[in-house]
Amino acid sequence: MGRWDAFSPILNLRIPGLRIQRDYDLTNRTSMRMQARAALFATVETPYALQLLMEKIRQAEVPAFLLGGGANTLFATSYFEGVVFTLGRGFANTSYLGGNFFRAGAATKLPSLIKSARDCNLMGLEFLTMVPGTVGGALAGNAGAGNWGLCDFVERVFLMTRNGFIACVERNQFRYSYRHSDLREAVILEADFRLEPFNRFEFERRKQEFADKKKNQPYNLPSCGCIFKNPKVEKGPPLYAGKLIEESELKGYAINSAEVNKGHANFMVNMGHSTGEDFLALIAFVQDRVHERFSVELELEVQVVGGPMNSVVLA
Ligand SMILES: Cc1cc2nc3c(=O)[nH]c(=O)nc-3n(C[C@H](O)[C@H](O)[C@H](O)COP(=O)(O)OP(=O)(O)OC[C@H]3O[C@@H](n4cnc5c(N)ncnc54)[C@H](O)[C@@H]3O)c2cc1C
Repeated sequence: MGRWDAFSPILNLRIPGLRIQRDYDLTNRTSMRMQARAALFATVETPYALQLLMEKIRQAEVPAFLLGGGANTLFATSYFEGVVFTLGRGFANTSYLGGNFFRAGAATKLPSLIKSARDCNLMGLEFLTMVPGTVGGALAGNAGAGNWGLCDFVERVFLMTRNGFIACVERNQFRYSYRHSDLREAVILEADFRLEPFNRFEFERRKQEFADKKKNQPYNLPSCGCIFKNPKVEKGPPLYAGKLIEESELKGYAINSAEVNKGHANFMVNMGHSTGEDFLALIAFVQDRVHERFSVELELEVQVVGGPMNSVVLA
């Protein structure tokens, strides 16, 4: 069997709105900038191209992963023997819907979501200040800060199921919680948000407040945000993953160039040419040490693609 035979249903798909690249270097596609390649990388620009691509992926029975901005994703191995696909500019439109409603495509970057809403005299998403990634990725993981997550502001979402059906899901028709949402079961195409009227003073105040909270985070280094979720506690004071890691004396601990950040212990940073293997080893080490010291299981917030911790590959 030839090197590309398994992918032939996908490679034979030549349609407008679909670009497929082989042996693709993913380094610049994740904020962690880790060394990884994918057998195929597909960029889709239209729902029709997406529908056909997903059909061919199912037919080829190869692993596939939907990538947004790559700000919350780790590729476990240095080669992903499958298809990484992403929504292109065709899914990055925004529009004002009247009243307090605003629509954004799933590929819209979070900073431009805030800015475009502001240009329409709307606000409310300032808690996403300095949070990288796309609307699709942020809805899939209910990204947020403080008590807020993006899903709190959703009015409806348009998505494509894995079988290729387009559906409109109203706000009361899906469940979400801290850094989780059912929406990740499908491909989010676009979403309508209910925001509030723009108020310059309040907008600037909130932006400053959230920017200040991020001061000890390593924005100048490649990372993928918080690695672990804060553990759930039934009773008693809240637990913070970063604090548990710090108290386990792991700040600055490194495996090759994958390092627990010296400033914010729930961030891991890439200090050189780290691979997914380095990060998985570091994650497992931190989990073991924290468990040993505090009997707390740290659950991953970041999405790991492929490898032993694989949780998100579509079959
Ligand atoms: C410096 C830094 C700071 C950060 N700060 C925060 C923070 O304060 N709060 C916070 O919550 N996060 C934070 N993060 C993490 C990250 O910014 C968010 O999780 C963001 O929402 C990820 O979006 P993305 O598009 O990059 O997702 P990706 O990493 O590309 O994907 C994440 C998951 O979403 C899925 N996905 C992507 N697009 C879609 C789609 N269209 N439909 C369905 N599923 C999809 C992917 O399959 C994957 O499972 C930070 C990251 C960095 C690097």
